[in-house]
Amino acid sequence: MKVLLFDIEGTTTDINFVHHILFPYAKKNIATYVKENESQISEIIQKIKENNSVHSIDEVISLLERWIDEDKKVKELKDIQGLIWKEGYATGEYTAHLYDDVIPCLENWKNSGLDLFIYSSGSVQAQKLLFSHTSSGDITPLFNGYFDTKIGAKKESQSYTNISKEINCEPNLITFFTDSPQEAQAATEANLNVIHVNRDGLYNDSKFTLVKSFEDARLISE
Ligand SMILES: [Mg+2]
Repeated sequence: MKVLLFDIEGTTTDINFVHHILFPYAKKNIATYVKENESQISEIIQKIKENNSVHSIDEVISLLERWIDEDKKVKELKDIQGLIWKEGYATGEYTAHLYDDVIPCLENWKNSGLDLFIYSSGSVQAQKLLFSHTSSGDITPLFNGYFDTKIGAKKESQSYTNISKEINCEPNLITFFTDSPQEAQAATEANLNVIHVNRDGLYNDSKFTLVKSFEDARLISE
């Protein structure tokens, strides 16, 4: 093994942190944030107006709120959410959740010479924010790089081939950690090794190597 590649939600981090803390925080604050930072984010606002034929700032805000409710993957929304989360982290509204075994295992793997990468559907910007605001501080120095869905969708095997090319490493030397059997399947089809992380004990068995924690995966992936 040379490279370990990690999903975030359900793998390094409780899915509830993202869905019960980050997303509601952005939703609650988006109207105020846009109004208070209208000039700083004028380029993003301008793009939203042009692309959606809306004119006033109130219309922009309603549209953003609707996109949140509909879980739309719009770049401008993601950018604004990222800025709001940054403020929330900076003011100490929350710190990023990581399972207890994550940092010690990542440090061990890093020290034994493995390269560590992240692949998550949240934007690279949001990933970096998360790992720089954990309860143990900034752990971004542990990572060699980050991928989001710009490289491809997580349930498509081509994305894993793209990552392997991008980091210049043969697929069979990469091990992907994920809680999602569909993502595990896609990665397997691209010839990666896979560890199926079963944090909540949802699965009794799996066609992939099933572990409850990174600690359980430590020996397998060394
Ligand atoms: Mg996941």
